[in-house]
Amino acid sequence: MKICDVHVHLGKSGPWQPYVKPSMYVDKLIHLFKKYNVERAVVFPNPNVGDKYPKMNDYIADCVKKHPNRLIGFGRVDPRREDAAEELNRIKNSLGLAGLKLHPMVECFRPDHPFFEKFFEKINELKLPVLFHTGTGFSSPGLILKIAKKHPKLPIILGHLREAAVNALGMAENIYVETSGTLPEFIELSVDIDEDRVLFGSDVPYYRYPVQIAIVKAAEISRKAKRKIFYENFQNLFIKKE
Ligand SMILES: [Zn+2]
Repeated sequence: MKICDVHVHLGKSGPWQPYVKPSMYVDKLIHLFKKYNVERAVVFPNPNVGDKYPKMNDYIADCVKKHPNRLIGFGRVDPRREDAAEELNRIKNSLGLAGLKLHPMVECFRPDHPFFEKFFEKINELKLPVLFHTGTGFSSPGLILKIAKKHPKLPIILGHLREAAVNALGMAENIYVETSGTLPEFIELSVDIDEDRVLFGSDVPYYRYPVQIAIVKAAEISRKAKRKIFYENFQNLFIKKE
């Protein structure tokens, strides 16, 4: 089965989970693609402090230029910075990146706080799909759902699918879920809601391809649904839209 992956980190790592040695550069990723039959991935920088992101976004743009048929680049922006809107403009219009990765715990912001309304309006205006890290606290799917409802045309992908993400999937048509670090049971529940809005994600290099692929394979869902998760839903969201 062909695979497209919506969640890969590329470039130098900050001091996050140093035991997994998360710095990974593009040649290593292309090697992994060949080994695990991955055709294409959405790639973005590792978590860091906000002032490091612009340089890291530049690296992602360079990688995409080298491998335009294998990589789709997302940027990272610290929403608390005064120049956040400027950096959004730059990643879309100068760097040609296709979306945004947000991690409300790392970037330390509450997505539904009024302070960030303008930031999300800008994202919506630039039509940048957003992959959110989800979990607890500021990263709760319930908070992100509010953004999705305010901007119903903006695709919002909830990373690391769990129960609260399944609930959000049922509550807004522009919500997608991504499978890195999940369990087969949550994939089954999501497919029951809408098999067209479930995307394979690996979170390489924090997680490993063999395990992340096996999680989707272990789900008791149709072959057709697996094809959609591994490949077709990604194509519909990122490739066929023009
Ligand atoms: Zn990640």
